[in-house]
Amino acid sequence: MQKLIYIFWYIRKMRYVKIANEQIHDFLNQLKQYGKLYAPVKVSDKFYDRKEIDDVCDIAFDYVRTLLPAKKYFIHPKEKMFDIDIENGTYDEPEEKIEPFVLFGVHACEIVGLRILDGVYLRDYVDTYYKRRREAGIIIGLSCLPDDHCFCNLRRSDFVDIGFDLFLHELPDGYLVRVGSPTGHKIVDECAELFSNVTQEDIAAFREFEEKRQQMFSHHGSFDNMRYLLELTARDELWDEESEKCLGCGNCTNTCPTCRCYDVQDIPDIDGKTAERIRFWDSCQFRSHGLVAGGHNFRETKKDRFFNRYVCKNSYFYGLGTSYCVGCGNCTYFCPAGIDYLGNLLRVRSASEPEEVVHEHN
Ligand code: SF4
Ligand code: SF4
Repeated sequence: MQKLIYIFWYIRKMRYVKIANEQIHDFLNQLKQYGKLYAPVKVSDKFYDRKEIDDVCDIAFDYVRTLLPAKKYFIHPKEKMFDIDIENGTYDEPEEKIEPFVLFGVHACEIVGLRILDGVYLRDYVDTYYKRRREAGIIIGLSCLPDDHCFCNLRRSDFVDIGFDLFLHELPDGYLVRVGSPTGHKIVDECAELFSNVTQEDIAAFREFEEKRQQMFSHHGSFDNMRYLLELTARDELWDEESEKCLGCGNCTNTCPTCRCYDVQDIPDIDGKTAERIRFWDSCQFRSHGLVAGGHNFRETKKDRFFNRYVCKNSYFYGLGTSYCVGCGNCTYFCPAGIDYLGNLLRVRSASEPEEVVHEHN
């Protein structure tokens, strides 16, 4: 059977099943047998975050974004890389015991974000810390409806065909499930009593949901030429005005599913005989980010740093043919200065005043 599954997988024929709403909690409980279950939960009136799930009733299915993106499970905000023996000039990488885990409810844009991170961390130089966690993680995608900040449709990251084990699409009475990996097949086979065949009504409902979703996006068209428009408008007053408002706090990069810059520091013990090498998330919006030995700073001014983020996020990731920005809207939603990243891109695209979009302010 396992062999057949692999043959099936290799010819890349997608498999579809359905799970009814009455079965979903059983399914979530069964997922726990594959590892610790993490999913979005409501943590305050306005915010959601991903947490380890004890009671599956706590899981939020209608969330739009979480405080930190799924990248936090694969690149920890702060971690020890190894211990250094200064006297002997040696180092030891601590044995990290990585337990399998399941991320439930990951939206399409974040799955594209993880694929971008794969390209960075696994393609040319393999980051073993990231690789081990990626291998241990099972990804269960979940369909969503956009809010005013979402523009994944302009980034071609509103739908994924790879990068998940299972993907659940909302139906009126359950979920249409796409199976995307051998692990996904295994889960469906092992929980077979929870799934049924997809009917013509389910297909019609899936179509309807996708159409409704497309109509809900505030903006349509494409941002494919944005990188070039940004370079051509580098001297526009827009960048002086907008960078002036920026607090340089780094919220936009921390909450971005694809921002991945980190800093490395050696922390010596008080006796000077041993040290720890740690790495932690850094932000291109910090002045220290471009500072090098001798006091030179590659991005001396706040405007340099601000504009660079726009160019960086809108350049192309050659592995996927998409930009490094997946259009999730997090950087706008969590910006304490109220800087509207999407609004600024729209201004660059249309060379006019921002389109009137009413955002709920954070
Ligand atoms: S979140 Fe807003 S204020 Fe903070 S660094 Fe980013 S753009 Fe500037
Ligand atoms: S730049 Fe902003 S909108 Fe684009 S992926 Fe990052 S957080 Fe999301």
